[in-house]
Amino acid sequence: MTAQLDNQILPNGLSLESAREQGKRAYELDRAHVFHSWSAQAKLTPMTVSATRGSYIWDGDGNRLLDFSSQLVNTNIGHQHPAVVAAIQEQAAKLCTIAPQHVNDARSEAARLIAERTPGDLNKVFFTNGGADANEHAVRMARLHTGRYKVLTRYRSYHGGTDTAINLTGDPRRWPNDYGNSGTVHFFGPFLYRSPFHSANEHEESERALEHLHNLIRFEGPSSIAAIVLESIPGTAGIMIPPPGYMAGVRELCDKYGIIFIADEVMAGFGRSGRWFSIDHFDVTPDLITFAKGVNSGYVPLGGVAINSRIAETFDERPYPGGLTYSGHPLATAAAVATITAMEDEHMVENARAIGEAVLGPGLRGLAERHPSIGEVRGAGVFWAVELVSDRTTKAPLAPYGGTSPAMTALLGECKSRGLLPFANFNRIHIVPPCNVSESEAHEGLAILDEALNIADSFTSVGRTD
Ligand code: PLP
Repeated sequence: MTAQLDNQILPNGLSLESAREQGKRAYELDRAHVFHSWSAQAKLTPMTVSATRGSYIWDGDGNRLLDFSSQLVNTNIGHQHPAVVAAIQEQAAKLCTIAPQHVNDARSEAARLIAERTPGDLNKVFFTNGGADANEHAVRMARLHTGRYKVLTRYRSYHGGTDTAINLTGDPRRWPNDYGNSGTVHFFGPFLYRSPFHSANEHEESERALEHLHNLIRFEGPSSIAAIVLESIPGTAGIMIPPPGYMAGVRELCDKYGIIFIADEVMAGFGRSGRWFSIDHFDVTPDLITFAKGVNSGYVPLGGVAINSRIAETFDERPYPGGLTYSGHPLATAAAVATITAMEDEHMVENARAIGEAVLGPGLRGLAERHPSIGEVRGAGVFWAVELVSDRTTKAPLAPYGGTSPAMTALLGECKSRGLLPFANFNRIHIVPPCNVSESEAHEGLAILDEALNIADSFTSVGRTD
C-alpha cells in the first residue's frame, strides 16, 4: 500500500478532507471540459494530483507517490523548489509580462546563464514557449541559413507535437500527422540491443550507423539537406546512449556536406544525464541546441534555441522571420535564472551523475540479474531505461512497438499501488527522478520497482506457469 499522511495535512497546507473534496470537483470538471493530449478522451481516467513537494506527489486520495517520472521528464529540480517559487512570486510582483521587443533583466540574465553553459560559440538564445516550437525555429534557422529544405532525423525519436516537430519525430505519433510533404527524411540511429545493422558490439554499431547515414545523405542529395536533428541522448524513444564515435561522426558528415547539426536537448539537457547538456558526453559542438523542460524545471513554460555565431550572423542584417508574443516571458525566464542558480548552488548536476553511478546504475543492473522480464538496462545520471521483454533470448518486447499490453498495464498499476510513479513508453519503464533526488529516495524507488517487477516476470516465458 502507498504511504498515507499521518497528520492528514498535505505539504501545501490543504487538509486531506478538503484536498479530496477539491480533487473530486476538479475531476468532474476535467472530464466535462478538459481535452487531453494524445488520447481517446472517453477512455481516460486521469490521476488527480493534490500536492507536490521535492521528489514526491500526492494523489486525490492523499496517497504519496515517489515521482520517478519527473512528470514529463521536466521537474529536474523536483517539485516546489522554494527558491524558484520565490523567484516567480517576486517577478510577478515586479513585472509580470513585457513584449519580446523590449529589454528585460530576467530574460537577459537567463540568456547569459544558458550561453555560459552551452558548448562552443552558441552564445545567442532565441526563447520559445516549449520544446516543439524550439525545434520549429531551429529548423527554420537552418533552412534560411543554408538555403536548403530537407531535414534528416532518426526513427526512434520525439521532437514535439507541432507541425514540423511532429514530422521530425520518428515515433508512431508522427504517423497520423504525416502527409509525406514535410521535407523530413528518417534514418536508423545506433541501438545495439535492437541493432538494425546486426552489429555485435558498440564499435560496429557506431561505424555501421554512420555508414548508413552517409549513404542516406549521398542518395538524398547533400546539396538539398539543411539539417540533421538528433536528440543528444534519445529520451522517450528509449534512452539509447550513442556509442563512442557516433556523434563525432555525425559532426564530421555535417561539416563535409555543409549541413547544420541541431542537438535536441529538450529532455536530455539541464543535468538530466549528469552533465549540463548531454552532448557534453561526446565532446562535440552542434550548431544549434534546442532546450525546454529542465531549463526552469517546467515551473513556467519555456524553451529556446541556442545559436552559434555563424548562424546568428545570418540574421545580423537580414530580419529573422519568426517570433512569439511570449518569447522570453519574464515569469518563465526569472524561473530559469532561479533554477540554474539553484542547480549550481546545490550541485544538482554532480548529484545526478553520482546517483547514476553509485545507486541507479548498479541498482538497476542488480534488478536485471534477478528479474527475467528485464532485457536491458541503460542510461546515465538520472536518465535510465528498463527494457522489458517476455523472452530474453528472442528479446520479444513486453508490449509491441507503438502499443501497450496487459503485462505493462499490470506492472504500472503495481508500481503505482506501491507508491512509485515511473515514466513509461511501450515496453519500457524509465527511471527519471529529479537531479536532486537523494540517495535514500533512489533506494526507495528501486526497492518498490524490485517488488513490482515480480508481476512483469509472471508474463515472461520463464515466469509463466501455464
Ligand atoms: N524534444 C524532445 C526530445 C522531447 O522529449 C520533447 C517533449 O517531450 C519535445 C521536444 C517537445 O517539447 P514540448 O512538449 O515542450 O513542446
